[in-house]
Amino acid sequence: MRGTVLVVEDETKLRELVRSFLEREGLSVLTTGSGAEALSLEEKVAPDVVVLDLGLPDVPGNVVARELRRRSDVLLLMLTARASEEDRVLGLELGADDYLTKPFSPRELVLRVQAMLRRGRSAEDPPGPASYGGGRLVVDDVRHEVRCDGELVRLSPTEWSILETLARTPGRVYSRYELVNSARGYEWEGYERVVDSHVKNLRHKLGDDGREPRIIETVVGVGYRLGLSLDR
Ligand code: CA
Repeated sequence: MRGTVLVVEDETKLRELVRSFLEREGLSVLTTGSGAEALSLEEKVAPDVVVLDLGLPDVPGNVVARELRRRSDVLLLMLTARASEEDRVLGLELGADDYLTKPFSPRELVLRVQAMLRRGRSAEDPPGPASYGGGRLVVDDVRHEVRCDGELVRLSPTEWSILETLARTPGRVYSRYELVNSARGYEWEGYERVVDSHVKNLRHKLGDDGREPRIIETVVGVGYRLGLSLDR
């Protein structure tokens, strides 16, 4: 089974042990001992699973988890120090998909990660890649991949979410409020300009440089819409 796992654990020995067990199963592994670095790595790499220790020296694991949940649908496996009911509830409240109590066997962790990858991929039974504008844009929900004129385009989770939302109903106008909500699940001050800047980056990455039809159209006073129609 393929997949990328980000392991966030400040205890070096444990981190490297987990890494070697996951790599042995053919998974790609990135590691960090810092909560802050975990957040930036997650955005850059868009892993399939984050294994997150609750006890981190800089940004606490619960803060990292909340932020991840807010902006991405990455699978989250939480590591907690105690088996108490409180910790279990905390983990689930934070949006963890699964949790393991220390000490755990690395083999058990590998099995949990593999089970998460399997569940995550079969859960929604998505229709597969959707193609727009005669193949100019292809959005693949399963692989979380976007191709533009055949070229793979790497998007941040927020950019992905905005594009995926627009592509749900080509031609329908989505307000900035709807776009920010689908990306983060909440609204923050100044979000309109933030959405505009994400859309600007998206257009740049997609090579949406003014040739008609535009991939993402601005609808003045309302929001944005996908300018390409779905290929049949
Ligand atoms: Ca720790």
